[in-house]
Amino acid sequence: MATVDDQRFSDEVYRSDREHVLHSWSVQSRLKPMVVNEARGIYFWDSGGKRYLDLASQLVNSNIGHQHPKVVQAIKDQADKLCYIAPSIATETRSALAKLLSTVTPPRINHFFFTNGGADANENAIKIARLATGRQKIISRYRSYHGSTYGAITLTGDPRRPPVEPGIPGVIKVYDPYCYRCTFGQEYGSCRIECAKHVEETILYENPKTVAAILIESITGSNGVFIPPREYLVMLREICDTYHILLIADEVMSGFGRTGEWFAINAFGVEPDIMTMAKGINSGYVPLGAVGISDAIATAIADQYLYCGLTYSGHPLACAAAIATIEAYQEEELIANARAMGGVTRGSMEDLKRKHPCVGDVRNQGLFGCIELVKDRASREPIVPWNGSGEVMAAVERTLLAEGVFMYLRWNYMFFAPPIIINEAQLNEAFRAIDRALTVADGYLQRAAS
Ligand code: PLP
Repeated sequence: MATVDDQRFSDEVYRSDREHVLHSWSVQSRLKPMVVNEARGIYFWDSGGKRYLDLASQLVNSNIGHQHPKVVQAIKDQADKLCYIAPSIATETRSALAKLLSTVTPPRINHFFFTNGGADANENAIKIARLATGRQKIISRYRSYHGSTYGAITLTGDPRRPPVEPGIPGVIKVYDPYCYRCTFGQEYGSCRIECAKHVEETILYENPKTVAAILIESITGSNGVFIPPREYLVMLREICDTYHILLIADEVMSGFGRTGEWFAINAFGVEPDIMTMAKGINSGYVPLGAVGISDAIATAIADQYLYCGLTYSGHPLACAAAIATIEAYQEEELIANARAMGGVTRGSMEDLKRKHPCVGDVRNQGLFGCIELVKDRASREPIVPWNGSGEVMAAVERTLLAEGVFMYLRWNYMFFAPPIIINEAQLNEAFRAIDRALTVADGYLQRAAS
């Protein structure tokens, strides 16, 4: 229970926040942020002492959960030893992290450029791709998110991009492998993977000799968790090989155990030439990202000047946190846990779909999932418009919060991405709350129909 002093402190935090802090991705005048000063494992507590199960892993980055003692200790130890040294200097934690990463990334990815997060990882990935190929164009997809800096938001296709246009030149958009709502009007099984053929056709129209890279989220994240058919990624790899184009896998959200594999692309038997990472690399304890590049690209750019880097690239505290996080993934067998809990998640999601008319589709790979809500299963019309909101989703969110569950909702999507330390009992607790929230959504549909 919060005391009177706790309440005063929290009121002061809230007042100062609203007077002085500008929040990301929001209309400032409408904001009423929750006050949180404590988190542990898969839970956090608000200033009133109410506990929430963090089904979003915050921004799908707290893969290892909050306040993991090994990671906290590693940061403290590194702070005692060396808080900062410039990126141009070799230092123990940075080199140890790069070596450790090369043991968990796909075999050909052995060289790492460290960044502050995911957006600048993608910015640097395309700079490196342009440098290595001498070509300029980058193909990326409409339903994608690659970060909010100017280059990364241009690579992004979703509605977060147009307000910041014009972006950088040379980015071409293609459609996505979104089987539930196929752009090409097909059903998986009889579709001949039109979504991959369309990428090749686009490249031919653009002139393959001008295309440096195709950039994809291996499994699309914040646009709805699209798990592509296996053939799709295999075909993209073949297209890249045919036209000497690089394949860049953005694993910022899908990496580090989220899907029950170290990286989502591993499940498709495809290796990228460049891979970007952030978030789960150190579970968000200190800002960090990385661009991993293949031996062939490292050789191609070895004699060229690398116009990349920020003051804090590869910060020693962040690298120390990453080493401890990766070791924890290994020691606690968390990737296997994500895979096993993914199986439990699949079963629970299918149960929800059977029970609730408002559920149009459920999909998950490991602990990366989405429940897509519809007005009508036959027409698949979304329960709120794409790029829109509505009272029904606000009611779903209120119910979840009242049940002590924090989930990321966007449009008609409910994202499922708990810390990968979660166990079966905790998953069941989460699904009971989601079940109640979906009953609320069903009620809206019934009232609209009557
Ligand atoms: N790429 C993907 C797939 C993401 O989901 C995100 C962020 O959510 C980013 C890049 C950008 O990462 P950051 O916010 O660390 O810049």
